[in-house]
Amino acid sequence: MIAPPRQKPTFRFAPSPNGPLHLGHALSALLNHDMANLASGRFLLRIEDIDLARCTPELEAAVIADLAWLGLAWEQPVRRQSAHFREYQLALAALIERGLVYPAFMTRGEVRQRVEEAERSGAVWPRDPDGAPHYPADDRERSDLERRQRIDVGQRHAWRLDMGKALASLGEPLSWTESGDGERGDIAADPGAWGDVVLSRSDAPSSYHLSVVIDDALQGVTHVVRGLDLFQATSVHRLLQALLGLPQPLYHHHRLITGPDGRKLSKSAGDVGLATLRASGLSAADIRRRVGL
Ligand code: GLU
Repeated sequence: MIAPPRQKPTFRFAPSPNGPLHLGHALSALLNHDMANLASGRFLLRIEDIDLARCTPELEAAVIADLAWLGLAWEQPVRRQSAHFREYQLALAALIERGLVYPAFMTRGEVRQRVEEAERSGAVWPRDPDGAPHYPADDRERSDLERRQRIDVGQRHAWRLDMGKALASLGEPLSWTESGDGERGDIAADPGAWGDVVLSRSDAPSSYHLSVVIDDALQGVTHVVRGLDLFQATSVHRLLQALLGLPQPLYHHHRLITGPDGRKLSKSAGDVGLATLRASGLSAADIRRRVGL
């Protein structure tokens, strides 16, 4: 019998160009690159720019300059999520067709108010692993007619996964294979912990969760190497892969780089960027040492 061709190990670094890269990104990019080399595999760069308001061409150029300075080389062409909204929309349409996704009309303010009211009266409102409150059930219960009427009059809405229905449609419990710096081995996925996640935002025709699983599949990614801050999100990714019939990659969630105060570095907190470190005279080899590689 002829063995099927083995897929070449394929790794990707997938930054969102909404701010300057810092040491945490350097660790992730270098690890992906080194692991790809070690496996004689492919190293891809993917620009996750679905948030068109926060991601700019200037920030993307800065990301690319930082990665080139680190000595990384990646395959061309680079995939930009903003060029693939149609693919995400097609996948979303298939889930809507199956009744697994519904239009969600509540604004952030309305959700906050609802949660505050409930918590004031002593109720425990469920929260996702990142601490955000689950979306209230109101929109899940609406009739198709009411949904259509609201959309027809132009009411802004996101599209959310009906987590209960999605879980009920699965044949067996989900898990993933993990080799990272936290828990390892066969990890049981718990997508229910996230509630009705957003698959398409009111201000962008996709969401992080939806685009990431579609792109990993379309690009033939076999190894997802990223920070431990995305460990729990993998449960949602495994669920979407199962619902959309996509292959599952292996996962490796690496340690996070923390600042002097012990919290993980972040773009929004203005943590020192790679470009600033470069301007201060550090070399790419110094960065490798700083991130412990
Ligand atoms: N774009 C995400 C970020 O910058 C990473 C997504 C991933 O690696 O799955 O945090």
